[in-house]
Amino acid sequence: MSPSRVYIGFGANLGDRLATLRVAAAELVGLGRIVARSSVWETEAIGPPPDYYNAVVALDTELDPEPLLDGLQRIELRHGRERGVARDLPRTLDLDILLWEGRTLSTPRLEVPHPRLQERGFVLEPLAEIAAQAVHPLLHRTIEGLRDDLVRARRLRRLQESL
Ligand code: ATP
Ligand code: MG
Ligand code: MG
Repeated sequence: MSPSRVYIGFGANLGDRLATLRVAAAELVGLGRIVARSSVWETEAIGPPPDYYNAVVALDTELDPEPLLDGLQRIELRHGRERGVARDLPRTLDLDILLWEGRTLSTPRLEVPHPRLQERGFVLEPLAEIAAQAVHPLLHRTIEGLRDDLVRARRLRRLQESL
């Protein structure tokens, strides 16, 4: 079977954020093959500060969605991610499945495309760097189009450091 192309969103706002993103990207090797990486972006947190570092990678994977999510959550835990009761709390590492080429999914554990990606500059900016022409399968819009239409509510900037 040929692999699926998926896009994984990375976020970190505690600890050494850049090192965490880089190590976590290296740890994706067990889950598939990284075929593209965005820049690293520094973005204002939705919840309490500090600012986030965000990035997106394209991964070719043979895994099904739930086993991929299991693998991503194992990496989060290895980086000390604590699962709090509330959303948007500071955390060492967040790994989300943003898009899965050619499919949509809605289960209690997994919703793909990520249901909030179209509202988030910290997702759309890095995603547009590596998947500008990818089409959102439910909104029928390109990532570039969604990015251009976004009303930017929060500060963000592209850093020189690469992932
Ligand atoms: P947000 O979803 O708004 O980005 P979050 O990433 O902080 O919030 P988490 O605490 O990381 O949320 O995850 C909560 C649950 O979301 C996970 O346990 C997982 O089962 C579920 N989930 C649903 N869809 C996805 C997805 N596309 N990628 C990752 N997790 C998902
Ligand atoms: Mg998230
Ligand atoms: Mg998450």
